[in-house]
Amino acid sequence: MLIDSHAHLFNGDYDEDIESVIRRAGEAEVGFCVVPGTDLATSRQAVELADRFPEVFAAVGYHPLDLAGISDAGLTAIEELSHHPKVVAIGEIGVDYFYDKSPRSVQLEMFRRQIALAIRRDLPVIIHTRDSMADTVALVKEVVTAHPEWRRNNRTGLGFPHRGVFHCYSGDADTALELIRSGFLISFTGSITFKNSSACDVLAAVGYDHIMLETDAPFMAPVPFRGKRNEPSHLPLIAAKVAEVCHATMEDVVRTTTFNAKRLFSLGEPDAPVFTYQLGKSLYINLTNRCNADCVFCDRKGEAVVKGHNLKITREPDAREVIEQIGDPLRYDEIVFCGYGEPTIRLDVLKDVSASVKQKGGRIRLNTDGHGNGIHKRNILPELAGIVDTVSVSLNSVDPVQYGELMRLDGPKYHAAMLEFIREAKKFIPSVVVSVVGMNDVDQNSARELVEKELGATFRVRPYF
Ligand code: SF4
Ligand SMILES: [Zn+2]
Repeated sequence: MLIDSHAHLFNGDYDEDIESVIRRAGEAEVGFCVVPGTDLATSRQAVELADRFPEVFAAVGYHPLDLAGISDAGLTAIEELSHHPKVVAIGEIGVDYFYDKSPRSVQLEMFRRQIALAIRRDLPVIIHTRDSMADTVALVKEVVTAHPEWRRNNRTGLGFPHRGVFHCYSGDADTALELIRSGFLISFTGSITFKNSSACDVLAAVGYDHIMLETDAPFMAPVPFRGKRNEPSHLPLIAAKVAEVCHATMEDVVRTTTFNAKRLFSLGEPDAPVFTYQLGKSLYINLTNRCNADCVFCDRKGEAVVKGHNLKITREPDAREVIEQIGDPLRYDEIVFCGYGEPTIRLDVLKDVSASVKQKGGRIRLNTDGHGNGIHKRNILPELAGIVDTVSVSLNSVDPVQYGELMRLDGPKYHAAMLEFIREAKKFIPSVVVSVVGMNDVDQNSARELVEKELGATFRVRPYF
C-alpha cells in the first residue's frame, strides 16, 4: 500500500468527481491520502473530506501564499480544528520568497506561530519552501533546539523524533541530510519524472530511507500526465521513478515510504514483526534481538525497523521455521543472517539453516560483530566452513578505545578479539568483508588501510542512515 502524503483534494478541481478520484486511488493501491489545507476555509474542507472518506486524513494551516486573510481568530480556529481526530499535522505552512505574496517578516512570523501551535498540539508540520530554504531551515532548527520535547514519543529508528516533512523538496543534498538529522523527512512529487529534474540528483544522493511520496495534486502531475490535473492514483509513477533513481525495487520503496508516512502521521497499525524479510533480491534472516554489544547507533532496543520491516520479534524462531520461510533459496541472490541482534548467539540454528540452504544450492552471508568466538568460548569458524560463503564483520573503528565507546563494551579486549575473528575467517570462509559505519568521526582511510593491507579483506562503508 502507498500513501499520498500531500494532495489538495479540496480544491475546486475535484468538485465533480471526488468519489471517482478516491476510488481510483484505492485501485492504484494508494491506501491513505493526507489533504493539507492552505487557509481556514480549505482546512475546514480538508477535515470535511476526512470525515467523509475513511482513507483521507487532514492537515490544517495557513500556506505562505494564503496569508492575506490571516487573523488571530483564524489561527485560533486552526488550532481548534487540529483537535479533530483525523487531523494528523499542521500544514501546509512555510515561507515562499518566489512569489513573495506577503512581506517576508509576516511570513516568518506566521510560520513561527504555526510551528508553536504544532508543538502545543504535539503534531508534525508539513512545510512549504520556495527560494527560502536558508531562512526556513534556520527557523526550524532554532525551534527544534528550543523544544526537544516536540514529538519526543514519535521516535525514528535513529533515536530522534520525526517532526515534519519538507514537502516537494527543492533544496540540495547536504541540506536534506541536515534536515533528516534534525528529525525531518523530505518528500518528492511528480517533478522527479520531469526531464533534467535536479530533485533526482538529490534523491540519488540522499536515498529513499527518509523520504515520503506525494502527488501535490492537483499540481505537479508526473509524466505522462504532466500539465494535466494530478490525482493520488498517479502516485505509483512517482514510486517507480524513486525506485529507478535509487536502484531499488518498487516493493522496498513502497514499504519504506509507507512506513515513514505512517509513523510521521500516526496512521494505521505497525506491521507485525518478521523472522525473514526481503530487501532487493536478498532474503534476510532475523534470528534474535539479543546482542553482546550495545552500539550507540543501533536501534535494537528502539523500534528496530529496517526499510519498513518490523524486526522487533517477541520470540526467536527455530531452524525449521526459518527453513520453511526461506523455501527455495535459489529465488534470492543471497540468504543473509542480519537483523537487530548478533546472529552467532544462535549458532546452532544458524548452522542448521545454512547447511539446508547450501544443500539446496543457495548462498549464505553472515553479518556479525565478530565476537562469536568469545560468546561460545571456542573458535567457531571451522564450524562455518563449507556452509557460509561470506562473512561480513563490523569493524566500526580502527581505534580500540573508540570501538569500545561506539559499542559500549570493553574496547581493547573486544577490538583485538574481532580482529582475530577476521583473521580466522580468512582461513575458513571464501569471502570476508569488513565494514565501518559512515560517521564523521570514524577514520575511514585508516580503516580501509587496515582492512585491505593488513587483514587482506574487502572494505565497505555502511551508510549511517
Ligand atoms: S553489534 Fe549489531 S546488533 Fe549488536 S548492538 Fe551493535 S549494531 Fe546492534
Ligand atoms: Zn501543497
